[in-house]
Amino acid sequence: MSPTPGFLAYRIKHLTKVNAQRRALSQPLNRDPQTMSKGEVQYIPEAQMCGEPATCYNCPMFNYGRTCYLMGPDVKLRKFTYPPAATSDAKPIEYWPCCSAWRPGSPNMGAEKFADCILSVETLGPGWINAPKPGQKMGGANCGGKSGGDDCDHYMTDGDDKRIEPTAFCRVLQMDVENGAVCAAWRDDDWLDYNTGSALLAELENA
Ligand code: SF4
Repeated sequence: MSPTPGFLAYRIKHLTKVNAQRRALSQPLNRDPQTMSKGEVQYIPEAQMCGEPATCYNCPMFNYGRTCYLMGPDVKLRKFTYPPAATSDAKPIEYWPCCSAWRPGSPNMGAEKFADCILSVETLGPGWINAPKPGQKMGGANCGGKSGGDDCDHYMTDGDDKRIEPTAFCRVLQMDVENGAVCAAWRDDDWLDYNTGSALLAELENA
């Protein structure tokens, strides 16, 4: 894949603008949720995460590499890499799917199964999470980015590297949470929402 014509490839001098934009997008805003309980955000403690971040690939409702038991046959979910190969101005990033109904477990490796009552994309909010590097055994979401996960904007640490902090303050729950835990309120400013990720997936499949 060659550089896209008309697309500005960021250089070192652009980093201060990128950081400013990311800081704005990651700030507490009026639209942030009020203080929630662990039950309200379906908090899953680190001890139940099996040392892995949350993704469809370790969820029992995933029809492996294809679809979700809850969302039906029309919602295609699988990890992908974009751009598929390095260019002069960008490196490949691997994206792992997940949604707010995630539970730890083994995916369905057999024939696809679907619930009688299919839930919508709007209800479950699936999307894609970038991994620190391609080729990980598992990528996905957790509070502090431990075990190859992508950290949550609500996990507040004093230092720059959230991954080395075993616990930190969560501004949704208003209490300390574990680095390797996760919940349905997880958020990251570079999350790929369903429409964006689906379009990239279609582009890759039609290339
Ligand atoms: S840091 Fe994020 S993922 Fe972890 S409990 Fe708080 S909102 Fe949920």
